[in-house]
Amino acid sequence: MSNHFDIIIVGGGMVGASLAHALKGLPLKIGIIEAHPLDHDHPSYDSRAIALSHGSYKILKQIGCWQAIAEMGSTPIETIKISDRGHIGGAVLNAVDEGVDALGYVVEAAVIGKALKLESSDNLTLFSPATVLAMTVHPERDELTITHNGSEQSLTAKLVVAADGSPSTIGQILGEKRVTRSYGQTAIISTIISRPPHQNTAYERFTDSGPLAMLPNTAPDGWPDQQYDSQRWSLVWSARDDQVDEIMALDERQFLDALELRLGRRIAPLLSASKRIAYPLRIDYLRDHIRHRVAFIGNAAHAIHPVAGQGFNLGLRDVAFLAETIANALNDGRDFGTQEHLNYYSEQRKPDYLKIIGSTDMLVQTFSNNLSPLIALRNLGLATLERLPPLRHLLAQQMMGTTGKQSQLASGIPLAGSHQ
Ligand SMILES: Cc1cc2nc3c(=O)[nH]c(=O)nc-3n(C[C@H](O)[C@H](O)[C@H](O)COP(=O)(O)OP(=O)(O)OC[C@H]3O[C@@H](n4cnc5c(N)ncnc54)[C@H](O)[C@@H]3O)c2cc1C
Repeated sequence: MSNHFDIIIVGGGMVGASLAHALKGLPLKIGIIEAHPLDHDHPSYDSRAIALSHGSYKILKQIGCWQAIAEMGSTPIETIKISDRGHIGGAVLNAVDEGVDALGYVVEAAVIGKALKLESSDNLTLFSPATVLAMTVHPERDELTITHNGSEQSLTAKLVVAADGSPSTIGQILGEKRVTRSYGQTAIISTIISRPPHQNTAYERFTDSGPLAMLPNTAPDGWPDQQYDSQRWSLVWSARDDQVDEIMALDERQFLDALELRLGRRIAPLLSASKRIAYPLRIDYLRDHIRHRVAFIGNAAHAIHPVAGQGFNLGLRDVAFLAETIANALNDGRDFGTQEHLNYYSEQRKPDYLKIIGSTDMLVQTFSNNLSPLIALRNLGLATLERLPPLRHLLAQQMMGTTGKQSQLASGIPLAGSHQ
């Protein structure tokens, strides 16, 4: 087996695997290095549910992965209700107002994992389980040393794509500086069954301890709780770190009561909650996500608070623009790994991800606070949102991932030179 690749993707999680699918129709030799065995339970595909934006749905459709998701099960979000616990003010976003069937879709991470499953082929080589030990960037190529099947191997590539999550081993090896800060909050996730049906409505509720999201989430085909199809929700409860032990220690009924109290009895009564899992939350991103022969995508470039469900959506937009950058350079017979070509990718992505990082951060800081001027400000904000349709439209478009310049894949245009 030759050890030279056009592109090596480090990390076969949601974002790295999506890039491999996006590039599969191009005449490229691709290697994927993934630390976990890809045929076993993978930590990225745990019991979390992912709210996919309308834009992500279009990208997944174009790279040939949406059909599998649709067959296994996804739940359209038709309405989003945003409110602030204990205060007046609230806003409602509707798919009908935006002229679409759904503002987005809720999909189990495990379903996304199955839809993105990678298999070795003529132009795709999987190294799994394997990790990168060392990497050197040369003008014409990158050199990597990996451990695979218990032995060391040397690989070369014209471009290394770091999709290895936060804090990114590749970034650490190359000495990239990250901006990082803890939110002092932990996300607690659980699957909740309520007596009232979800009616395809998502709730985004801000509370003094942190934001809380209830996403409508019909069970995928063959799942044990399928009898509760229309009463099933995925909860993301972001609580202050000092409250987490107490919340995690509650028995199921106490936990549901505490949740009902925070939701303001909107979806009461709540009937059951699955095992809770906690994720400490931090913001963590690179100021520059390219350098000559290296590009960072997904959480390796930017890991954000899950308040607005934007992490994977941002990562998919990275995938779409990086694939477009590579395809266009390849089609013109140019070297896609150079700084010059990667600059195009960076120029397309940076404004979007800085905007999402900024707005997510602002949302968490402003809505997790009990200072009266901030309460007044956020209620004014929600009330204004409710009264001003153009502002509501802007927010809806941002949540749908349809603001700003759209990639070719999100616009339904195949990549240049692709045979898929
Ligand atoms: C509670 C919660 C809820 C969320 N909800 C949403 C949502 O509703 N919508 C949304 O869009 N996003 C959501 N997200 C964010 C989303 O889960 C992440 O953005 C996404 O999983 C990032 O994928 P990734 O592939 O970039 O990184 P990861 O999933 O971290 O994958 C990185 C991969 O790289 C591998 N790796 C790491 N180091 C190495 C190495 N040295 N060598 C080889 N391989 C390596 C790892 O094994 C892993 O497979 C949520 C996150 C959380 C925590």
